[in-house]
Amino acid sequence: MDEDKDAQYELLIQQEYDALINDYLNSCHRKNVEKIDKAFQFAKQAHSGVKRRSGEPYILHPIAVARIVAKDIGLGSTSICASLLHDVVEDTDTTVEDIENIFGHKIAQIVDGLTKISGGVFGEKASKQAENFRKLLLTMSEDIRVILIKIADRLHNMRTLGSMPLAKQIKIAGETEYIYAPLAHRLGLFPIKIELENLSFKFEHPETYKEIEARLEEQAPFLNSLFEDFSVPIKESLDKMGLDYTITSRVKSAYSIWKKMQKKNIPFEEVFDILALRIVFTPKPDTDEREQCWLIYSAITKLFKPHPDRTRDWLSTPKSNGYEALHVTIMGHSGQWMEVQIRSDRMNEIAEKGFAAHWKYKTGEQDESELDRWMKTIKELLKNPETNAIEFMDTFKLSLFASEIFVFTPKGEIWTLPQGSTVLDYAFSIHTQLGLHCIGAKINHKLEPLTYVLKSGDQVEILTSNKQQPQQDWINYVVTAKAQSKIKGIFKRQYKIYENRGSKIFKEEMERRGIVVTKTVMDNILQAFHLKDEEDLYYKIGREAISCDDIQKEVFKDSSQNVLVKYWKLQFGGKKKKEKSDNLSNSSKLKKNKILTITEDETNYRIASCCSPIPGDEVVGFMEDDGVVVVHKRNCPNAIKLKASSGDKLVEADWETHKMLSFPAVLDIKGFDRVGVLIQIAKIISEEYNVNMHKVNIDTKDGLFEAKIHIYVHDIEDINNLCMNLIKLDCVTSVVRVENDNEELS
Ligand code: MN
Repeated sequence: MDEDKDAQYELLIQQEYDALINDYLNSCHRKNVEKIDKAFQFAKQAHSGVKRRSGEPYILHPIAVARIVAKDIGLGSTSICASLLHDVVEDTDTTVEDIENIFGHKIAQIVDGLTKISGGVFGEKASKQAENFRKLLLTMSEDIRVILIKIADRLHNMRTLGSMPLAKQIKIAGETEYIYAPLAHRLGLFPIKIELENLSFKFEHPETYKEIEARLEEQAPFLNSLFEDFSVPIKESLDKMGLDYTITSRVKSAYSIWKKMQKKNIPFEEVFDILALRIVFTPKPDTDEREQCWLIYSAITKLFKPHPDRTRDWLSTPKSNGYEALHVTIMGHSGQWMEVQIRSDRMNEIAEKGFAAHWKYKTGEQDESELDRWMKTIKELLKNPETNAIEFMDTFKLSLFASEIFVFTPKGEIWTLPQGSTVLDYAFSIHTQLGLHCIGAKINHKLEPLTYVLKSGDQVEILTSNKQQPQQDWINYVVTAKAQSKIKGIFKRQYKIYENRGSKIFKEEMERRGIVVTKTVMDNILQAFHLKDEEDLYYKIGREAISCDDIQKEVFKDSSQNVLVKYWKLQFGGKKKKEKSDNLSNSSKLKKNKILTITEDETNYRIASCCSPIPGDEVVGFMEDDGVVVVHKRNCPNAIKLKASSGDKLVEADWETHKMLSFPAVLDIKGFDRVGVLIQIAKIISEEYNVNMHKVNIDTKDGLFEAKIHIYVHDIEDINNLCMNLIKLDCVTSVVRVENDNEELS
């Protein structure tokens, strides 16, 4: 029986390996099968007898990683060998020296880099996590292949995540969403980024994921016929032009559909761009491929009307991850909008394989892309020994996420900057000296101060003066990592003085007021004042920008919320509770099910004020150092960050819904301002048996109103009922539950 299984596995290993070699032979790399074979045999031997959690032989994992590296990323034999060997040093007796002796320096170096950053980017403690992350980037800047293989490794781990325990799934999924997906995006590995996000979503919100997948399946016949409606006439027309092309459909991932539903607050039915068309063509010789894109564009827009605002020209200005294409949204004969993506073979390969393809097509030294510049920024950041690891991670994240604007130099060159960049950011991005002596700029020939926030399309000419000296408050006017680190570097000493003063004041004052500053309290303060870290807080106190009175107000605001918490009931840990147990307080039962129930007197949990979850929301808990569990919505940005950085503190939490308990929630209601509208709304709310209203803000303007209504409800069902009844009113156009009442956010 066992022998039988072993033989089957042996066959499977051979099949998977053959498939890898096949992928490799189909690529354009030098055919170095012998070396790959040697690495395969070596790894197979080293991992022999070891099984993955799923019961499969371990070697299937490195083979799968190597396949992703070969096929999806398009790397060559060195990377394939390193992928096959990537877990050998970590998990077996083999050393890096062994690898170096057998496979040479390059492969050994990559395996070494991968070993150093194994076990996830994030280890056990926060500072260590960030330190690991720094290491990851260091290896990345030495050899980009390390990070590309790491991403492939993560992708395969995500594909097989189902066999992990639940808490681990959520931690790994969170880390993937937080760092690997954005990294893949930044490196232009678009399909991998989409798959990573989608898999994270699947493990974090299994129910919602299944629901959307089911809806997609339901829609499949309709989407197919829609594809026909558009593609048939387009094919006809492109054939006439004598083009060599393929036309395919691209269906949005469950994750992106969900994202869109969340962002726009719309149901599945209203996500209109589930389907897109993609045309990939082989350019005719001796013609400009960009011109051909536009020819296809005009052929299509002759057949279908284009949306005036939705043509995206990524030909003349490629995205910073290297993406090039021409996008147009056209209207079908039944009034349906459809996005069409037009790409040449080369553009398509860059879109699919990102960085690797980008390098392949690179023509000369001057051809410095945004990606090169980004890598340079990273290297520069790494060189600065002053920044601490956590600070570094924050600035790095900044460089990953910021969406971009394009501005022009006086010579007409295009420069990419993160959204929100100021004149000062731009000056620093060109040259440190230019930043340090910047006094302002001419924006489109008009004089503007250095704090001016740039817009896409601005033409910027920096003005400098030798008399200009950098100012301390400049730190408040920059958003880019480079400018921040330069300014901080200069004022390190001064900042430190304020910081020390602030720290002293803070400690004395809190003691005097009898406030115990736990980690939870500190987090709340940082969040309330939009501060990055404790140092930032002390600095602001030291400069008297924040007073301890303000802080006290914040702290007590929170404890007044705790009065409400008293009536809330949650359960932590254990499995998903299906059996309705009436006596959860029965302690023997608790132990057996590993469910911890919070009674009214206990204060060992807190509802996160950033996302204010209520029963029915998918939630997750985090154990603070003092044993308090903070409960967040699963999709709260802070929770995602916490999952990635402190996965070990994760506590499973589920609602014990109970109609005796009340939760605060805020509804945002919009509509036409008619006489008596508020009375109608109030009537509905008071009629809804389970709901209490306790605060109303209403704004009216130009015949429209917007009301923010604070209510107490028992669970999400109450809210849904209420929303349904409210939207039935003629004068109400939208009802949305909002996260909190923070004015800055609305
Ligand atoms: Mn691995």
